[in-house]
Amino acid sequence: MPIIALLINACVAFTGFYLISKVFHSQLFFSSRGRGVLIGILAGLLGLFLMFNGVEVNESVRVDLRHLPLVLLAFYGARLPLFVATAFIGSTRFLFGVTDQAVIAFVATWFVSIGMLWIHRRLAERVFLQSMLLNVWALSVISVAVLINLGWSVAYFTLIATIWTVGMSVGLLSSALTIDLEQTTRQSKDYKQSAERDHLTGLFNRRVWDRYTSELGTKQRTYNVLALDIDHFKRVNDTYGHANGDLVLQRFAELLLIETRSHDLVARIGGEEFVILMYDLPVEKVEKVAERIRKRIEHEVFVLNDFPPIHITASIGIAHGKSEPIQKMTEAADDALYEAKHSGRNQVVLTNVNERSLVLN
Ligand code: GH3
Ligand code: MG
Ligand code: MG
Repeated sequence: MPIIALLINACVAFTGFYLISKVFHSQLFFSSRGRGVLIGILAGLLGLFLMFNGVEVNESVRVDLRHLPLVLLAFYGARLPLFVATAFIGSTRFLFGVTDQAVIAFVATWFVSIGMLWIHRRLAERVFLQSMLLNVWALSVISVAVLINLGWSVAYFTLIATIWTVGMSVGLLSSALTIDLEQTTRQSKDYKQSAERDHLTGLFNRRVWDRYTSELGTKQRTYNVLALDIDHFKRVNDTYGHANGDLVLQRFAELLLIETRSHDLVARIGGEEFVILMYDLPVEKVEKVAERIRKRIEHEVFVLNDFPPIHITASIGIAHGKSEPIQKMTEAADDALYEAKHSGRNQVVLTNVNERSLVLN
């Protein structure tokens, strides 16, 4: 029964697309090349499954959907996976001998993929039109390849019409699902971004800082909390305007990211107040890092709109301690920052929380 076979093919294709899209968006694989090859292999295997389980329309006519995984990859503009999958799907016929048909299938598959990449590049933002044209292009090349294989005759009109009916219906439905999945994924990324990031600087916000630090507990680790505050920042706003103040904050945040390691947690927890959590740095090292940040800010030329560039300074308080609750560390870093402000600003002041608690005891 062709319709059942068609539905089974479509369901397998949709499930495969869902899994491939998940891998595509996952952060699990560190190397993007490795992920690209994996996606290409998955799409290639899906293509082979669809190829070997084509829909029997009647005794002489058989239609398959092997091109759909390629359409999916072209839609994502995923060049490496597309090339891997194309090599997979295009070369399979050679397993049954080097025949004219195998060569035509090979050339046609590459033609489909390269043409689709071109369409994707032209229409990357117009998702619906792009999907439509990707499917039309793939089916056009397949039709020509079939006619070259079988001979140019109107007798094959039914076959071509069936290829188009099946290909367009399943192809457009799968494109609609892909677009929907893509939009949902993008939206949830946007929501996550706006819930976790400060919109001005892109750093983590206070909510992430509070949540992350409350989860840390008092593990057997050395923690360093740096509290940073720009000196006389009100003057920057008053003299150059709030918009220029924002520019300074953005560049300041960039400098903090440049001067820290990727696994340090850098957050903006107030107007011009920033915190950094650094693990496992001995006390001499963290002082050096803080001093480096202070100097970097002091020497940086902050570019403004409609005004000459300016220099600013910042004060930094450090709390260094082992197995202390981060809440306590943050308060200690704030106290050290207060100390830095009161001893003239543009300074680094360090508190050793463990020693301080010893004194208190
Ligand atoms: P100091 O810290 O050296 O004691 O002096 P200050 O002038 O920096 O002190 P204060 O912390 O009182 O000033 C902070 C200023 O930061 C006040 C506020 O207008 C400004 N501010 C807070 N959030 C933003 C923001 O998002 N953009 C801009 N441009 N300014 C902000
Ligand atoms: Mg300040
Ligand atoms: Mg302040």
